[in-house]
Amino acid sequence: MPELPEVEVTRLSFASAIAGASILHATLGKPLRWPLGIEVGSLVGCKVMRVRRRGKYLLIDLDQGMLLVHLGMSGSLSFGPARAQPGPHDHFDMLTTQGLLRLHDPRRFGAVVYADDQQDPRAIKLLGHLGVEPLEDSFDPGVFFQGLKKRQAPIKQVLLAGDLVVGVGNIYASEALFLAGIRPTMRAAKISQPRAQRLHQAIKQVLARAVAQGGSSLRDFSNAQGQNGYFQLEAMVYDRAGEACRVCSSTIKRIVQGQRSTFFCPACQKP
Ligand SMILES: [Zn+2]
Repeated sequence: MPELPEVEVTRLSFASAIAGASILHATLGKPLRWPLGIEVGSLVGCKVMRVRRRGKYLLIDLDQGMLLVHLGMSGSLSFGPARAQPGPHDHFDMLTTQGLLRLHDPRRFGAVVYADDQQDPRAIKLLGHLGVEPLEDSFDPGVFFQGLKKRQAPIKQVLLAGDLVVGVGNIYASEALFLAGIRPTMRAAKISQPRAQRLHQAIKQVLARAVAQGGSSLRDFSNAQGQNGYFQLEAMVYDRAGEACRVCSSTIKRIVQGQRSTFFCPACQKP
């Protein structure tokens, strides 16, 4: 599923191209995870001001209101010249004066939701509980350590929960824990301050690197211009069960935590 870097890569791939565009036509396909919340035709005539990101949501600011877009499990956005009619898996089309924005989402866990602004209850419901942004200065190592101390769950699951720091999904949690040398099963509250600091750095480093690489193309991700990412080619542990650790040559292990696969090196990552 698209994680924070893929959502940020998507944003970067169309934000400047769509800014300033007026909406000429908008249509919905099959129902998505949540309804749009307004008549889709009422978007016509609105102007796209800019595209921001909060966690894994893209926030498309209009001159009146905003659209919150989530890619769900299998969604991808494309933006470019107007083209063929929507296919069976295209569930939101927005034709603008600068191109067509299309949401393709075979599994339909994604959504496009309209809100008046970020204080709208519809926006608060989706964004209100999100933790700090890992790539912004508000992600503070001291606050992160204090947050870990209050949580008894395994560190991998605390990262995935998203309330301490947002957008660290399955791939990047495994990778950041490897970089920090921390076993994913370790209880968050047991992590020492120096190790918490290393993990804080590792999260920033892994996510920034993934954005720079165009995201990961596992699960067929591509950005809004149809380009693939390359992060998965340099993954240290993710999806490498049975292969040799790139640092110590030990065999990478796979376990299941909260129904999600976790990958780690039993030698490099200490409990
Ligand atoms: Zn190793």
